[in-house]
Amino acid sequence: MSDLYARHKAVLPDWLALYYKDPLEITHGEGRHVWGADGKKYLDFFGGILTTMTAHALPEVTKAVTEQAGRILHSSTLYLNRPMVDLAERIAQLSGIPDARVFFTTSGTEANDTALLLATTYRRSNQILAMRNSYHGRSFSAVGITGNRGWSPTSLSPLQTLYVHGGVRTRGPFARLSDTDFIAACVEDLKDLLGHTRPPAALIAEPIQGVGGFTSPPDGLYAAFREILDEHGILWIADEVQTGWGRTGDHFWGWQAHGRSGPPDILTFAKGIGNGMSIGGVVARADIMNCLDANSISTFGGTQITMAAGLANLSYLLEHDLQGNARRVGGMLIERLRAVAAQLPVVREVRGRGLMIGVELVRPGTDEADPDTASAVLEAARAGGLLIGKGGGHNTSVLRIAPPLTLTVAEAEEGAAILEHALGSVH
Ligand code: PMP
Repeated sequence: MSDLYARHKAVLPDWLALYYKDPLEITHGEGRHVWGADGKKYLDFFGGILTTMTAHALPEVTKAVTEQAGRILHSSTLYLNRPMVDLAERIAQLSGIPDARVFFTTSGTEANDTALLLATTYRRSNQILAMRNSYHGRSFSAVGITGNRGWSPTSLSPLQTLYVHGGVRTRGPFARLSDTDFIAACVEDLKDLLGHTRPPAALIAEPIQGVGGFTSPPDGLYAAFREILDEHGILWIADEVQTGWGRTGDHFWGWQAHGRSGPPDILTFAKGIGNGMSIGGVVARADIMNCLDANSISTFGGTQITMAAGLANLSYLLEHDLQGNARRVGGMLIERLRAVAAQLPVVREVRGRGLMIGVELVRPGTDEADPDTASAVLEAARAGGLLIGKGGGHNTSVLRIAPPLTLTVAEAEEGAAILEHALGSVH
């Protein structure tokens, strides 16, 4: 055990999960690579769990942050803040939400807390619809709407949450249905649920479930849900913490795969927009955002330093069409991994969109999740110089791949070859 790991264990909570038997300390990064204290260079296929959206040590972001740090890091939400207004204007416009207002937080969890505060206040209801197998953060209220039991410690949250089918279509009672039948079955389930309850405030959903194993419903599910929600005046909150900013290649936001639904009433974002700086936020129609009658939620949301990072990162992302890169390189990587998987009975499915790719592992010849093999593949990939993630509601047996969006074709090839070797070596 390294000295740092021993000190970590002695002073930090047991539930603070670490990857790898011999946990990795990362000392620095550049582009799609990071370096460990073990002296090794790793290709990063997990983008610091999607927080490093664009690239490690992106010069444009480093410059903006350094210049801002030389002026002021943070004043207060009580004073005007130019970079905050600049970034809010751009996000409001990109969100697709009419008459949008933007509120910045420091994390995705806090963004979802804010969305819950808005929706419950606006609707005068503490009842929330959330998706089975969902993940929305780990604060007191966020765990109360997180359907993925592995990530939801016991909570006495005062929210009343009803869990809806639809986020996972690869397993469960509706698994073998066609797209149309799957949507129809989930809609029936939702209608049934609404028949037995007081009117909920909102439905919160990740367009593609992240921690849950990169699973998604057929396009159009949320448009079908929307019709029913609208009949009851129930708000739709899209949690875009993992799916936003072009990661899925086909769309800038995950909700756009359900385009007929129109934009959500509330959209939450975080992670990648800061390229490693701690930003989250909420976008909502003005009437919803302004339903609170007291001052803002935290002191730190929208600090000048994080806003400078967000602005530089967003400009880079748009100017370099990283959404297009995610579509092209991600599409190629998915095809490549599917070809690998066809030879390996341990892989049940390769799924995904853009640079959000899941590889679900099972015990060969069965449908049973195989978390041990997933852990072994993670270790083998690391040994080969590749960092990937794990997830999935079924004992975390889904390998998660979400590299920085600047990933090149050569790097995608290199990572796929390492992963192919890692998968082959554990069986
Ligand atoms: N929502 C989703 C969909 C997430 O994936 C996460 C983080 N994994 C969160 C919310 C919470 O974000 P944060 O970790 O920034 O609090």
